[in-house]
Amino acid sequence: MDDYSILFEPLAIGPVLAPNRFYQVPHCNGMGYRHPKALAAMRAVKAQGGWGVVCTEETEIHPSSDLSPFIEGRIWDDSDLPAMQLMTEAVHEHGALAGIELTYNGHQAYNLYSRLPALGVRALSTGYNPWQARCMDKEDIRNVRRWHRLAALRARQAGFDIIYCYAGHNLSLAMHFLSPRYNDRSDEYGGSLENRVRFLREIIEDTKEAVGDTCAVAVRLAVDELLGDDGITCQADGYEIIAMLAELPDLWDINVSDWENDSAPSRFAKLGYQEKYIAFVKTLTSKPVVGVGRYTSPEAMVSAIQRGLVDFIGAARPSIADPFLPQKIKEGRVEDIRECIGCNICVTGDLLTVPIRCTQNPTMGEEWRRGWHPEVINPRKKGEAVLVIGGGPAGLECARALGQRGYQVVLTEARREFGGRVALEASLPGLSEWRRVIDWRLTQIDKLSNVTLYPSSLMNAEDIRQADFKRLVLATGAHWRADGISRARRKPLSGLDLLPVFSPDDLMAGISLQGHIIIFDDDHYYMGSVLAERLTAMGCQVSLVTPAPLVSYWTQNTLEQKRIQERLARLGIRFYLQHVLESVDQAGVRIKDLISGGMAELACDGLVLVTERRSNDQLYYQLKPLLDSGLLTHLSLIGDAQAPHLIAQAVYSGHLAAREMDEQRNEALPFRREI
Ligand code: ADP
Ligand code: SF4
Repeated sequence: MDDYSILFEPLAIGPVLAPNRFYQVPHCNGMGYRHPKALAAMRAVKAQGGWGVVCTEETEIHPSSDLSPFIEGRIWDDSDLPAMQLMTEAVHEHGALAGIELTYNGHQAYNLYSRLPALGVRALSTGYNPWQARCMDKEDIRNVRRWHRLAALRARQAGFDIIYCYAGHNLSLAMHFLSPRYNDRSDEYGGSLENRVRFLREIIEDTKEAVGDTCAVAVRLAVDELLGDDGITCQADGYEIIAMLAELPDLWDINVSDWENDSAPSRFAKLGYQEKYIAFVKTLTSKPVVGVGRYTSPEAMVSAIQRGLVDFIGAARPSIADPFLPQKIKEGRVEDIRECIGCNICVTGDLLTVPIRCTQNPTMGEEWRRGWHPEVINPRKKGEAVLVIGGGPAGLECARALGQRGYQVVLTEARREFGGRVALEASLPGLSEWRRVIDWRLTQIDKLSNVTLYPSSLMNAEDIRQADFKRLVLATGAHWRADGISRARRKPLSGLDLLPVFSPDDLMAGISLQGHIIIFDDDHYYMGSVLAERLTAMGCQVSLVTPAPLVSYWTQNTLEQKRIQERLARLGIRFYLQHVLESVDQAGVRIKDLISGGMAELACDGLVLVTERRSNDQLYYQLKPLLDSGLLTHLSLIGDAQAPHLIAQAVYSGHLAAREMDEQRNEALPFRREI
């Protein structure tokens, strides 16, 4: 067996001892102060799964740094402590340390709830918000230092072992002080690096003085903003800041900024992508260093430690996709690790202000409200076998979870390969890691003697009747429509028979195109953009028409949008933003500018419609009479066959159907709420 023992060595962080080197770095989750029981249960599962340190998300220290509408942690006064204690007690119960990321966001705080003026290093605005922060004077700086100190004392009282001074992601006042881009002060807090570091140094010293005898004081620092000379870089200021403060904190939690760079998706960044930026840190300090880089392989983790890059393996997404990752490594069950696919659906919870979810781990966010555990499942109550039709993400997860419950399961799939849409989409540019959704499920099913797979088995209603199962789950997926109906256009498009027209299904089936191809993207997620990449790679000239003001608009929620648009622009793809298709003829398409109403003709050799999908639910309606007549005792429709949605939702739907088989369901309120 490989030797991973170094990962399980206890390691001191100032006055506290981490039981191992698995460190769940702070990560947001859309639960925060609003869903404290759910949050505590989610963090507890990570501690139970072997993460030696489990941290909070950004935690607001004062109402003048209120992050609403985003739902983060809150430690404004003592009334927040009972909620915080739920987490620390739950984490301690499993022998892990609890860390808290105290946060004062400066001009990045919207203060929509508190309605207090934001305090910034200068009078800065943020995003497209028509307001600005107030430039802090010396009294404001003293106040923020005092608030930070009081929050640290409260955090200790709540039971936290590690207390953060946060200077990362461009979301923190301390980082704004460091950055010449924001800091134009002429007092002792601006100008030279020594002066720009002053505020961070002061809050570290304040925190150490307040709680440093019993709690570790960590600094989360962005050492590179990936902006070249316009930002902090690991060759210049990033390096010098660590050199200046090297021995001051008890732990360095190092990453790149901003959040889009730190949580880079797999489409753009592979395992260990931060190593080149953070490699220098351990040459300057004797204090332990945490780094992240979507490490899911124990070999890569051991190597990062042995190469002297980090002391702790930091993880947000790998711990979300598999809260039991450390435990599985410890038990030599590496093949059981549910590896993160780097899709950033977890991030959407925070940005859309709802509890976190994960493509790979359907139990994420459901630990308290549905009582789901990532490794444990309710055993079956009845003995009847189940036939699942369709081996996409929904069918695979349903069959796997039913098998885990102890049911006899047969899973049939029309194609030779299992995986449904994931198998097809993972072959598109940049999406190969998505295969992990299939691989993990097939590996698990392989271990279950009660689940049988039948590939190359297209089933019609008669085949299903003859198979003689009483319980049937249909996971038959969906297909892309090619009639031009979409969000922006609710009636069919005329002239589609005059021009070669393709759907994403055609392209994923391997059709090869030439010449100038127009993609009409009214789906707004990744599909339009990855097809544009694929067509460009085939040698086509590609134009992308979309009603949205940005390419792949929804990918703002997965932190991918800027990178996608930049990549397509670099590939020479021409964009027609805020345009819709008006008509089609032999020569090309007519498009309408949604702002001016102006029309334009675009000559092309083919049109790809990335619009909406239709559920494959015919079998369901053919078989429903069997349920009504009692020949079937269970019939359900799950995943995209129920309603086209994200892959994450297909997996969730499959998991839910498996958990609910033979269980009492409360239609009115299927889960617990925190009132
Ligand atoms: P989901 O995302 O809901 O899992 P997918 O489209 O990814 O949906 O997968 C559906 C799978 O079901 C596809 O692999 C498809 O080949 C398979 N399938 C659809 N209809 C049948 C059928 N009648 N018999 C067997 N397999 C089917
Ligand atoms: Fe990884 Fe995607 Fe899960 Fe996030 S949602 S943890 S990126 S698999």
